[in-house]
Amino acid sequence: MTTTPAAEPLLDVQPSPLALLLLGRDADPNSERGVECPGDLPAASDPDLVERARAAKARLGDRVFILGHHYQRDEVIEFADVTGDSFKLARDAAARPEAEYIVFCGVHFMAESADILTTEKQQVILPDLAAGCSMADMATAEQVAECWDVLTDAGVADVTVPVSYMNSSADIKAFTGRHGGTVCTSSNAERALGWAFEQGEKVLFLPDQHLGRNTAVLQMGLSLEDCVVYNPHKPGGGVTPEQLRAAKMILWRGHCSVHGRFSLDSVNEVRERIPGVTVLVHPECRHEVVTGADMVGSTEYIIKALDAAPAGSKWAIGTELNLVRRLAKAHPDKEIVFLDRTVCFCSTMNRIDLPHLVWTLESLADGRVVNQIQVDAETEKYAKAALDQMLALP
Ligand code: SF4
Repeated sequence: MTTTPAAEPLLDVQPSPLALLLLGRDADPNSERGVECPGDLPAASDPDLVERARAAKARLGDRVFILGHHYQRDEVIEFADVTGDSFKLARDAAARPEAEYIVFCGVHFMAESADILTTEKQQVILPDLAAGCSMADMATAEQVAECWDVLTDAGVADVTVPVSYMNSSADIKAFTGRHGGTVCTSSNAERALGWAFEQGEKVLFLPDQHLGRNTAVLQMGLSLEDCVVYNPHKPGGGVTPEQLRAAKMILWRGHCSVHGRFSLDSVNEVRERIPGVTVLVHPECRHEVVTGADMVGSTEYIIKALDAAPAGSKWAIGTELNLVRRLAKAHPDKEIVFLDRTVCFCSTMNRIDLPHLVWTLESLADGRVVNQIQVDAETEKYAKAALDQMLALP
């Protein structure tokens, strides 16, 4: 792929309204946002943790269903009934109505989506409430409502269709549903944009500017000049009404703190270090990284590509490190390396560890429901409309 210079700086670090918290198994549980582990969060050093998790899971039997996102730690994945990306997991949970408790080993927006898609009787649990997502936190309901006002003042709201990435809060999905838009995943973003451009003239893409730009330019044939970036931290989004009127893609200024770290330098460096390497990256990476790579695709695409790769092939993967390490272990006949030399876990995904899982399972087995994620009925109604629209995409 050739490298196309971008019109906008593609990564700037905007402060998240919710602080990213320090990781560490010995972290003070009282410092965790909203978490109450009343004195009985097991110590990470407890040699019986694995046995305790097994025993609590066995006590719960079919009443519990544990979902493990691809980016989770190995010690957590070991106890997952299914693994997958966020949307697959939410659907897996919906397909198990007999499971009273859905323990979502992932991050907050994923548990919200599972709550929206599961029945009233099912309770969705997030083992650590501090497991948020920095990208999802970059678009709040208030900021998006203000953005819509700006679009209205510029006279373009009526012809703009919101498309929200799955990695967004229930509030943002509900905004999208209310305004006739759709949710998308990294696998179906092209179809979602194709549909949206049949409904209106412009798309407001939330909250990941990179997925929006990469899909629009590399798959939909738009140019970088067709895209503007709306910065919620600047008056009027930092764009003029004329720019909004001229744009086809209005990209929210959000990004993933993990995928946004990869740079073109990492791509060039790995090509020098490993001759013949194939660089495969996630579309949440910056545009220059995606255009500098050999292949781009969602987490599921990356997994399938490596499954299908011949023995002896060499790969540098630009996605979360827990997954890359597991893939390298699963394919000892191939050389699979992490694209960056710097360790790059998703810090909030990593908050779910074995002590939190044990605490959750033992609490549930004792009849105490902890850390339940509940989306209110009004939000759920409109968020579900946007999710249903995604399922109905041509
Ligand atoms: S990898 Fe990125 S998008 Fe996924 S949960 Fe972590 S910060 Fe959010």
